[in-house]
Amino acid sequence: MFRRAAINAALGSARSFYSHLCKWRSRREKALAKGHTWTLRPPVPPRSWNKSATLYAGQWKERTASSIMLKVWTGTCWSWIKIRITGRELPADVELGSPSLIRRGKQWWLHTPLEKQFSSPATIEQQVTTHAQTKICAVDLNINEQLAVCTIQTVAGTILATRFIGGGRRIAGFRKKLLGRIARNRRKTGMIAEGEQDNADRWRKIRNVDDSSAHLVSARIVQFARQHEATIVVFEHLGSLKPQKGKYSHRGNSKRAFWMKGRLFKYAKYKSYHEGMLTSRVNPRNTSRECAGCHSLVARYEEGQPAEGYTSGAPLVLCQKCGMRGNADRNASLVIGQRLITRYHPSSQEKPPTPLAIERGEKSPGVAVCQDATREEGPSIPPARHADRNEHGTAQDGSLGMAERLSDIPH
Ligand SMILES: [Zn+2]
Repeated sequence: MFRRAAINAALGSARSFYSHLCKWRSRREKALAKGHTWTLRPPVPPRSWNKSATLYAGQWKERTASSIMLKVWTGTCWSWIKIRITGRELPADVELGSPSLIRRGKQWWLHTPLEKQFSSPATIEQQVTTHAQTKICAVDLNINEQLAVCTIQTVAGTILATRFIGGGRRIAGFRKKLLGRIARNRRKTGMIAEGEQDNADRWRKIRNVDDSSAHLVSARIVQFARQHEATIVVFEHLGSLKPQKGKYSHRGNSKRAFWMKGRLFKYAKYKSYHEGMLTSRVNPRNTSRECAGCHSLVARYEEGQPAEGYTSGAPLVLCQKCGMRGNADRNASLVIGQRLITRYHPSSQEKPPTPLAIERGEKSPGVAVCQDATREEGPSIPPARHADRNEHGTAQDGSLGMAERLSDIPH
């Protein structure tokens, strides 16, 4: 039925195998010529493959938001059948791709890809070094009530906006309740009852809530960045998961909160890319201990407590040196944004960086996930100046296609 798709898939596999084999041969020759021993085994052709069947042009037509016509062999003749599909409305400026049949377990899904063309944004380095008014949205992810604290600042250092995205306590409470029930259940049966039905249900519930809140929070981060015309969204690297002491429900909860941060970044990355924004990550070292104003160490404390020492997770900060005081997560978020700026302006410790008009880099376009900014200092933040609302990231090179699956239907 899908002869052409099958032939193409087979051809592709054969070509891939052949080029691997050629590479292996030439590498072996080189190694033997140099007198090295060669132990690497040759590549083998695929013994089996699962390829999805593509419906090429002529086999499909009339793709609308809710249906598509497919030409199928009914057993006696070829006929057009109309298939209902679910999903979002079709955006105006997309190209329709050939749908393909994909098998997932026992179900068959029809994927109808859409392709959207947009010009790729300038690299982060270009944006940060050429425009002082480039707006950066910095995000501090937390495991307390404020899941994400976002700030917008320009490369020149002007702080424009802050948003707190809450809801962490509700999710943690929900998770803890379910984890507690799972723990009690395990205690009762005296064994780890992974496969047991009600536990499986609870795990699924936890997963679903985590996933949907990661989607919600990442969407709100991107929305906020877009509202303020930011062109770069910056996070901190996750670091490693610190093992926790205490009850099963507590340990499990903090582990899941950690995973959720990773998922939040993953989702925010592709969502912001769809809006033409790039994402990056910076070194997380001491982001919450540093003052966003003068970069000396801050005191972090609970409300009603003396403003001294460092209480991890406490909501308030005070800088003894410059007198800055405020929300600890907001301060951390500003420091994260500054780290990205300092990466490209290492010398600017005092005055805000001046835009360098030329210096277009050779960097490739695309989503850049950069490595740690090791420098501790950042540009100082001058007291609020008004912001120019134009001239941010405008360099455009070429265009990139992004395929997006808008609708999947079961069988
Ligand atoms: Zn300070």
